[in-house]
Amino acid sequence: LAEKLQDTFKKLKNKGKLTEKDVAEAMREVRLALLEADVNFKVVKDFINKVKERAVGIEVLESLTPGQQVIKIVNEELTELMGTSQSKINFSSKPPTIIMLVGLQGAGKTTTTGKLAGMLKKQGKRPLLIACDIYRPAAIKQLQVVGEKVGVPVFTMGDKQSPVDISKAGIDHGMSHGNDVILIDTAGRLHVDEELMDELKDIKNDVKPHEILLVVDSMTGQDAVNVAEHFNEKLGIDGVILTKLDGDTRGGAALSVRAVTNKPIKFTGLGEKLDDLEPFYPDRMASRILGMGDMLSLIEKAQANFDAKKAKELENKIKTQQFTFDDFLDQLEQVQKMGSLSQILEMIPGMGGKQLKGMDVDEKELVYVKAIIQSMTKNERHDPSIINGSRRKRIASGSGTSVQQVNKLLKQFEQTRKMMKQFADMAKPGKKGGKFK
Ligand code: GDP
Ligand code: MG
Repeated sequence: LAEKLQDTFKKLKNKGKLTEKDVAEAMREVRLALLEADVNFKVVKDFINKVKERAVGIEVLESLTPGQQVIKIVNEELTELMGTSQSKINFSSKPPTIIMLVGLQGAGKTTTTGKLAGMLKKQGKRPLLIACDIYRPAAIKQLQVVGEKVGVPVFTMGDKQSPVDISKAGIDHGMSHGNDVILIDTAGRLHVDEELMDELKDIKNDVKPHEILLVVDSMTGQDAVNVAEHFNEKLGIDGVILTKLDGDTRGGAALSVRAVTNKPIKFTGLGEKLDDLEPFYPDRMASRILGMGDMLSLIEKAQANFDAKKAKELENKIKTQQFTFDDFLDQLEQVQKMGSLSQILEMIPGMGGKQLKGMDVDEKELVYVKAIIQSMTKNERHDPSIINGSRRKRIASGSGTSVQQVNKLLKQFEQTRKMMKQFADMAKPGKKGGKFK
């Protein structure tokens, strides 16, 4: 989906002015892309109409091109579609909070129960898990293993008692053991059926959970949406957890579930490991679907923080190769004002989400870089070529770093300066391929 939409917007990006025809054409493609991504038909229709209504005749913001303006609207409407703000768990004012996880077989209930318990534990809660899947062989064992991994106790009574009795006994156990959140892992079926619903209703009526969270597999696309609709009608749900988003490239379920059920997506599962659970952020999901990272918020942040006059000065310095360590320091501070480095990287298209995991952006590195520059004299900052061996030693000890670190920075700075000069040259009028103004 992301790729499709990007193509569409690329066409728009180069236009100077946005006509009604442009909007209509772009929307036709957006519509196709959404349908292909298995987004519910009615949801698509409403969505397109909304965007069209907003896009045609709109005053283009000074800071954006018309193409960007349409992207912005699509982005905002996608966010709206998935619920504007992130939904949290409603904790009961009188603990324990009882959460029931329901869904079809294989959706990821048991895994998610463990993930959620681990997350809550990290937030200082004292969760207890109750094993109520008495049908699937080894389901109880599976929950025990998961519980052990996240260090959360699991209450079981084998498979001879009814799920209602197990739940009630489990809650009593939790209350007498000081557990403030109780998560009930229930059984699923391959398809929605009456028997399953009756069993879940029985638990609901007896236990009166504060939250019923439906776990759905996002890879099943439109089916996930139908399942959500059914569960919501028959049982009533408070929210949805979308699992396996790591394998879902189309994003159709994420887009439709909220619109169809009017229930928020609260969390997303992003892998099989027990820490692969994240709160659901509609705005981030919209951006990811648009395939541009949080490009817009990056633009917005940059505009808010970057002083235009300074930018002009900087540009001149780069062109005349007078870019100094003082400017470099300025730049660093600008970047830091925009957020942490890892946050910024996450906002860059292609760098978002998964690819960043495991890649540790070393914020400390920046602290050292600043310390090194601050240990330079004014002259050194303006003309790094005078920084000889003894100066390097002095700077290193002054900044609490090593000579190697100083050397590394000097080298990087030189390369940056060269690169910037090249860009600046490329942008000179008359030269081909110049994109930098
Ligand atoms: P249940 O039948 O609903 O309890 O589902 P399980 O918790 O047993 O999960 C079914 C399968 O889905 C298991 O192999 C899980 O490891 C896998 N699974 C669950 N959540 C995710 C997820 O977010 N991403 C991926 N890739 N796999 C998941
Ligand atoms: Mg299970």
